[in-house]
Amino acid sequence: MNSPATTAAPTAAAQPATPPAPGKITVATTWLDGCSGCHMSFLDMDERLVDLADRIHIVYSPLVDAKDLPEQVDLGILEGSVSNEEDLHKVKAFRKHCKLLVSLGDCAVNGNVPAMRNPFKLDAVIERAYRENVDHNPQIPTEGVPRLLKTVLPLHAVVPVDVFIPGCPPCADAIFYVLSELIAGRTPDPITVTRFGA
Ligand code: SF4
Repeated sequence: MNSPATTAAPTAAAQPATPPAPGKITVATTWLDGCSGCHMSFLDMDERLVDLADRIHIVYSPLVDAKDLPEQVDLGILEGSVSNEEDLHKVKAFRKHCKLLVSLGDCAVNGNVPAMRNPFKLDAVIERAYRENVDHNPQIPTEGVPRLLKTVLPLHAVVPVDVFIPGCPPCADAIFYVLSELIAGRTPDPITVTRFGA
Protein backbone atom coordinates (compact mmCIF):
# COMPACT_ATOMS: atom_id res chain seq x y z
CA MET A 1 0.00 0.00 0.00
CA ASN A 2 2.91 2.36 0.49
CA SER A 3 4.25 4.54 -2.26
CA PRO A 4 7.16 2.88 -4.02
CA ALA A 5 10.37 3.51 -2.14
CA THR A 6 11.84 4.92 -5.34
CA THR A 7 9.16 7.64 -5.55
CA ALA A 8 10.84 10.81 -4.36
CA ALA A 9 8.92 13.24 -2.18
CA PRO A 10 8.06 16.42 -4.08
CA THR A 11 10.30 19.39 -3.78
CA ALA A 12 9.28 22.93 -4.57
CA ALA A 13 10.93 24.14 -7.74
CA ALA A 14 12.23 27.67 -7.86
CA GLN A 15 10.07 28.33 -10.91
CA PRO A 16 6.96 26.59 -12.27
CA ALA A 17 8.03 23.69 -14.48
CA THR A 18 5.85 24.99 -17.31
CA PRO A 19 3.76 28.17 -17.22
CA PRO A 20 0.04 27.37 -17.41
CA ALA A 21 -1.68 28.19 -20.67
CA PRO A 22 -4.03 31.22 -20.53
CA GLY A 23 -7.44 30.35 -19.18
CA LYS A 24 -6.31 27.06 -17.66
CA ILE A 25 -5.95 26.19 -14.00
CA THR A 26 -2.85 24.37 -12.83
CA VAL A 27 -3.34 20.99 -11.15
CA ALA A 28 -0.92 18.80 -9.17
CA THR A 29 -1.71 15.28 -8.00
CA THR A 30 0.08 12.55 -6.14
CA TRP A 31 -0.58 9.40 -4.18
CA LEU A 32 0.38 8.69 -0.59
CA ASP A 33 -0.49 5.39 1.14
CA GLY A 34 -3.09 4.05 -1.25
CA CYS A 35 -3.44 1.59 -4.10
CA SER A 36 -3.43 4.19 -6.93
CA GLY A 37 -7.02 3.17 -7.66
CA CYS A 38 -8.22 6.74 -7.22
CA HIS A 39 -5.81 7.87 -9.93
CA MET A 40 -7.07 5.03 -12.13
CA SER A 41 -10.59 6.38 -11.57
CA PHE A 42 -9.29 9.81 -12.66
CA LEU A 43 -8.13 8.20 -15.91
CA ASP A 44 -11.55 6.53 -16.22
CA MET A 45 -12.93 9.93 -17.22
CA ASP A 46 -11.91 8.68 -20.67
CA GLU A 47 -12.91 11.09 -23.47
CA ARG A 48 -13.76 13.77 -20.92
CA LEU A 49 -10.02 14.03 -20.29
CA VAL A 50 -9.76 15.58 -23.74
CA ASP A 51 -12.29 18.21 -22.71
CA LEU A 52 -10.47 18.76 -19.42
CA ALA A 53 -7.16 19.16 -21.23
CA ASP A 54 -8.49 22.46 -22.60
CA ARG A 55 -9.23 23.67 -19.09
CA ILE A 56 -6.52 22.29 -16.81
CA HIS A 57 -2.76 22.02 -16.98
CA ILE A 58 -1.32 19.12 -14.97
CA VAL A 59 2.01 20.41 -13.70
CA TYR A 60 2.96 17.54 -11.37
CA SER A 61 1.54 14.02 -11.09
CA PRO A 62 2.41 10.33 -11.39
CA LEU A 63 0.44 10.64 -14.64
CA VAL A 64 2.89 13.09 -16.25
CA ASP A 65 6.64 13.48 -16.54
CA ALA A 66 7.07 16.69 -14.47
CA LYS A 67 9.10 15.87 -11.37
CA ASP A 68 9.10 19.20 -9.48
CA LEU A 69 6.13 20.60 -7.62
CA PRO A 70 5.82 24.23 -8.82
CA GLU A 71 5.94 27.09 -6.35
CA GLN A 72 2.26 27.95 -6.92
CA VAL A 73 -0.47 25.56 -8.05
CA ASP A 74 -4.18 26.30 -8.29
CA LEU A 75 -5.42 22.86 -7.29
CA GLY A 76 -3.73 19.99 -5.47
CA ILE A 77 -5.30 16.50 -5.43
CA LEU A 78 -4.04 13.90 -2.98
CA GLU A 79 -4.92 10.21 -2.90
CA GLY A 80 -4.10 7.94 0.05
CA SER A 81 -3.54 8.29 3.77
CA VAL A 82 -0.56 9.71 5.62
CA SER A 83 1.32 6.63 6.80
CA ASN A 84 5.02 7.45 6.71
CA GLU A 85 7.47 10.34 6.83
CA GLU A 86 7.54 10.67 3.05
CA ASP A 87 3.75 11.03 2.98
CA LEU A 88 4.01 13.69 5.66
CA HIS A 89 6.50 15.65 3.59
CA LYS A 90 4.34 15.41 0.46
CA VAL A 91 1.19 16.56 2.25
CA LYS A 92 2.88 19.59 3.76
CA ALA A 93 4.47 20.50 0.41
CA PHE A 94 1.10 20.28 -1.36
CA ARG A 95 -0.60 22.39 1.32
CA LYS A 96 2.13 25.00 1.11
CA HIS A 97 2.10 25.32 -2.67
CA CYS A 98 -1.55 24.62 -3.64
CA LYS A 99 -4.30 27.21 -3.27
CA LEU A 100 -6.98 24.52 -2.96
CA LEU A 101 -6.41 21.03 -1.65
CA VAL A 102 -8.64 18.06 -2.52
CA SER A 103 -8.72 14.88 -0.43
CA LEU A 104 -9.47 12.18 -3.03
CA GLY A 105 -10.89 8.83 -1.93
CA ASP A 106 -11.62 7.12 1.35
CA CYS A 107 -7.96 6.49 2.25
CA ALA A 108 -7.31 10.24 2.13
CA VAL A 109 -10.66 11.15 3.72
CA ASN A 110 -10.74 8.73 6.65
CA GLY A 111 -7.70 6.40 6.51
CA ASN A 112 -9.70 3.49 5.09
CA VAL A 113 -7.66 0.33 4.38
CA PRO A 114 -4.21 1.61 5.48
CA ALA A 115 -5.68 2.66 8.85
CA MET A 116 -6.61 -0.96 9.58
CA ARG A 117 -3.19 -1.27 11.17
CA ASN A 118 -3.97 1.41 13.75
CA PRO A 119 -5.34 -0.96 16.44
CA PHE A 120 -1.95 -2.72 16.51
CA LYS A 121 1.38 -1.55 17.84
CA LEU A 122 3.76 -0.43 15.09
CA ASP A 123 6.47 -2.93 16.16
CA ALA A 124 3.96 -5.77 15.86
CA VAL A 125 2.89 -4.61 12.37
CA ILE A 126 6.51 -4.46 11.17
CA GLU A 127 7.32 -7.82 12.71
CA ARG A 128 4.28 -9.38 11.05
CA ALA A 129 5.03 -7.90 7.62
CA TYR A 130 8.76 -8.43 7.43
CA ARG A 131 9.41 -11.57 9.53
CA GLU A 132 6.34 -13.65 10.34
CA ASN A 133 4.90 -13.60 6.81
CA VAL A 134 8.23 -14.02 5.01
CA ASP A 135 9.60 -17.48 4.15
CA HIS A 136 12.91 -16.52 2.58
CA ASN A 137 15.51 -14.41 4.40
CA PRO A 138 13.13 -12.40 6.64
CA GLN A 139 14.60 -9.08 7.72
CA ILE A 140 13.41 -5.62 8.63
CA PRO A 141 14.66 -3.04 6.07
CA THR A 142 16.62 -0.13 7.45
CA GLU A 143 17.33 1.67 4.15
CA GLY A 144 15.33 2.61 1.06
CA VAL A 145 11.91 2.72 2.69
CA PRO A 146 10.41 5.69 4.54
CA ARG A 147 9.89 5.35 8.28
CA LEU A 148 6.30 4.47 9.16
CA LEU A 149 4.32 6.79 11.41
CA LYS A 150 2.98 5.26 14.60
CA THR A 151 -0.59 5.91 13.42
CA VAL A 152 -2.08 6.21 9.93
CA LEU A 153 -3.77 9.59 9.50
CA PRO A 154 -6.30 11.06 7.08
CA LEU A 155 -5.13 14.20 5.28
CA HIS A 156 -7.20 16.63 7.30
CA ALA A 157 -5.51 15.43 10.51
CA VAL A 158 -2.27 16.89 9.15
CA VAL A 159 -3.25 19.94 7.07
CA PRO A 160 -6.46 21.86 6.28
CA VAL A 161 -8.37 20.34 3.37
CA ASP A 162 -10.77 22.30 1.14
CA VAL A 163 -12.72 19.57 -0.67
CA PHE A 164 -13.39 15.95 0.32
CA ILE A 165 -14.32 13.34 -2.33
CA PRO A 166 -15.20 10.06 -0.58
CA GLY A 167 -15.39 6.73 -2.36
CA CYS A 168 -13.14 3.70 -2.87
CA PRO A 169 -12.49 4.84 -5.43
CA PRO A 170 -14.72 7.81 -6.19
CA CYS A 171 -16.22 7.17 -9.62
CA ALA A 172 -15.00 9.09 -12.65
CA ASP A 173 -18.32 10.97 -12.79
CA ALA A 174 -17.76 12.30 -9.27
CA ILE A 175 -14.20 13.42 -10.03
CA PHE A 176 -15.32 15.10 -13.26
CA TYR A 177 -18.16 16.87 -11.42
CA VAL A 178 -15.81 18.25 -8.74
CA LEU A 179 -13.21 19.40 -11.26
CA SER A 180 -15.86 21.02 -13.47
CA GLU A 181 -17.33 22.93 -10.53
CA LEU A 182 -13.94 24.12 -9.30
CA ILE A 183 -12.89 25.18 -12.80
CA ALA A 184 -16.13 27.16 -13.07
CA GLY A 185 -15.34 28.89 -9.78
CA ARG A 186 -18.14 27.16 -7.89
CA THR A 187 -18.00 25.17 -4.65
CA PRO A 188 -18.77 21.51 -5.36
CA ASP A 189 -20.87 19.31 -3.09
CA PRO A 190 -19.32 15.87 -3.66
CA ILE A 191 -21.69 14.12 -1.23
CA THR A 192 -24.42 14.54 -3.85
CA VAL A 193 -22.51 12.30 -6.28
CA THR A 194 -20.45 9.89 -4.14
CA ARG A 195 -20.26 8.42 -0.64
CA PHE A 196 -17.95 6.46 1.67
CA GLY A 197 -17.29 3.00 0.26
CA ALA A 198 -18.80 3.86 -3.11
S1 SF4 B 1 -9.70 4.97 -1.59
FE1 SF4 B 1 -9.80 2.85 -2.40
S2 SF4 B 1 -9.20 3.09 -4.58
FE2 SF4 B 1 -8.53 4.98 -3.50
S3 SF4 B 1 -6.40 4.57 -2.86
FE3 SF4 B 1 -7.74 3.95 -1.14
S4 SF4 B 1 -8.07 1.73 -1.45
FE4 SF4 B 1 -7.32 2.57 -3.40
